[in-house]
Amino acid sequence: MARVNRSPADGRIPLIAGNWKMNFDHLQAIAFVQKLAWSLKDARHDFGAVEVAVFPPFTDLRSVQTLVAADKLPIVYGAQDVCAHAPGAFTGEIAASFLAQLDCSYVLIGHSERRTFYGETDEVIAAKTAAAIGAGLVPLVCVGETAEDLETHGASAVPVAQLNAVLDAIPKTADFVVAYEPVWAIGSGQPATPEQAQQVASALRATIAARLGDEAAAVTRVLYGGSVKADNIAGFMRQPDVDGALVGGASLDVEGFSAIVRYQKHVGV
Ligand code: PEP
Repeated sequence: MARVNRSPADGRIPLIAGNWKMNFDHLQAIAFVQKLAWSLKDARHDFGAVEVAVFPPFTDLRSVQTLVAADKLPIVYGAQDVCAHAPGAFTGEIAASFLAQLDCSYVLIGHSERRTFYGETDEVIAAKTAAAIGAGLVPLVCVGETAEDLETHGASAVPVAQLNAVLDAIPKTADFVVAYEPVWAIGSGQPATPEQAQQVASALRATIAARLGDEAAAVTRVLYGGSVKADNIAGFMRQPDVDGALVGGASLDVEGFSAIVRYQKHVGV
């Protein structure tokens, strides 16, 4: 497995992660990752200062692995989902150990599209997270409230409850990333405000502190996701508890995604 660019000694290195969803076949994936690496290299991006990850469809992962290894690209990658079970009779599923064999660093778990379209419950998401950790992957666990939840319970209650369900199932020392993605902000062009993102990120970090201790809370990265673009990333990255972004639509354009990754340069954070 490729080493994730973070350790407690490093602190919380910001992570900009591109969720491609069901876009790009394996040939398009190779072209995209090559162009992204060139674009960031040309701009002298410091990969030690801001980590860059892409989440291609399963069928692209072997091609991305081969390219990244052959050209020694400083880009990490992961899958968009994983099966909660060990290899066996689960038609159509992908085991965490298979992803580890493909040098995936991360795996997205509990994206709102999986919760909504595929009926994934907190229980399933917790089991998937435990399976990912068991295989040596770093789960990037997505939590977030719907517009209705926001109205009824306020912003933090649902994301915190979703995180608690995952924390019930994983070892206290596990390495994981949390992405706060308000469902109403995903793909809507209407991001949360940086202050809203900070409020929930801070509640999520306080939950990690209460459940796993202050050190775990200090090193665990909490990302914001939902209509992030090059022209709004800076506001999120200025928040003390926001350690990066999970980017959907804007991660499909090399120049746009590269500009988000380089937020420190072009917006003077
Ligand atoms: C997502 O799907 O994780 C996401 C954040 O999408 P978008 O950036 O398009 O809102």
